[in-house]
Amino acid sequence: MSKEAFLGLVEGFLSGNYRVYLFVEEMGEKKTFSCKEKGCGKPFDAWPPDEEHIVPRLEPAEGAVPRTYKCEDEGKHENTIYWLKETEPKLFFTKT
Ligand SMILES: [Zn+2]
Repeated sequence: MSKEAFLGLVEGFLSGNYRVYLFVEEMGEKKTFSCKEKGCGKPFDAWPPDEEHIVPRLEPAEGAVPRTYKCEDEGKHENTIYWLKETEPKLFFTKT
């Protein structure tokens, strides 16, 4: 195999991966939580409300976007997830 052919192959492989990556990004990152209701604990899926607020918290926080999700137990229980901006934990870690 020539160098050009090899590089072409690598390039094709990388661009292939890149497309997959973009696809995942567009889908948003699904997170699975357990119902907080006592004796339930059934899972429920939550998606970030937008591209910025992607860090889930179970407690209210400043600047967080609350979203309510129903668990898989026939939707009897409501769980609120507070979505924070991705930059918040990074800011936290710079405080040394
Ligand atoms: Zn539940």
